[in-house]
Amino acid sequence: MRLVTFVPQIGATPRVGLLRNGNRIIDLTDPQPRPPFDPADMIALITAGDSARTWLRDVAAKSRESTPFDKVTLLAPIPRPRKNVFCVGWNYFEHFNESASKRPADFKLPDHPVFFTKAPTSVNGPYAAIPYQSEYAQSLDWEVELGVIIGRAGKNISEADAMKHVFGYTVVNDVTVRDIQIHHGGQWFRGKSLDGTCPMGPSIVTADEVDADNLRVVCRVNGVVKQDANTQSLFFKIPRLIAELSLGLTLEPGDIISTGTPSGVGRHRNPPEFMSPGDVMETEIVGLGLMRNAIAE
Ligand code: ZN
Repeated sequence: MRLVTFVPQIGATPRVGLLRNGNRIIDLTDPQPRPPFDPADMIALITAGDSARTWLRDVAAKSRESTPFDKVTLLAPIPRPRKNVFCVGWNYFEHFNESASKRPADFKLPDHPVFFTKAPTSVNGPYAAIPYQSEYAQSLDWEVELGVIIGRAGKNISEADAMKHVFGYTVVNDVTVRDIQIHHGGQWFRGKSLDGTCPMGPSIVTADEVDADNLRVVCRVNGVVKQDANTQSLFFKIPRLIAELSLGLTLEPGDIISTGTPSGVGRHRNPPEFMSPGDVMETEIVGLGLMRNAIAE
């Protein structure tokens, strides 16, 4: 199943939709009987677990009312996560290597995943503009990443059980303002948390339809391929990420883990490249979907 959060027309309230045949959306506030969750809220749907799944299967089989995909405005599937988006640094070996010159020579790949977060207010839609705040955020960089959506809550989750806690997957771009990242002591939170710098979507694809260990991840800027890799190269795999992250920290339905970016980011190009107003960033995970975000003029 593919699930979206959308606004049918200007001024309407957001609601959850079920994508059908790739280009039609069933509005979950329409079907009768009413769903066993709030159809305006993706997190409520995820929290409802099996009862939501059963209801959705029924809707998919019966519902005839649907709207063309291009007639609505898609928001991020989870427009306002209840906590920060969890992110992983240096999780593709080639990306770790391309940034090697910026670190001490004896710096080794970590034994544990490196986590940081993006503020909930950084979340942006799959086709929305990325703000360009010229006074303090000129060095906008791209990072295509596979996003994991947590389904069942859990704490101290074992690697063996981890995948039972995954609801589905989405496409994330961990847009980063490199100047701010550098100015604040090399820590990552500030440079990765500005408003609108976490486009996400276009849908959540449920875990039963995805082989997360073999997905091609691509980022293009103005049609030129900048990153092109496969999640086969993830250094810490998803079960390990969930196990380590959930040690003493409760993961809840709708929490998002962005699994890290491959090589090809702008900062490590020679000379470095950043995005300017009018540039168009395309973030694609083949089989999951494609986002197209312009940098605001
Ligand atoms: Zn990243």
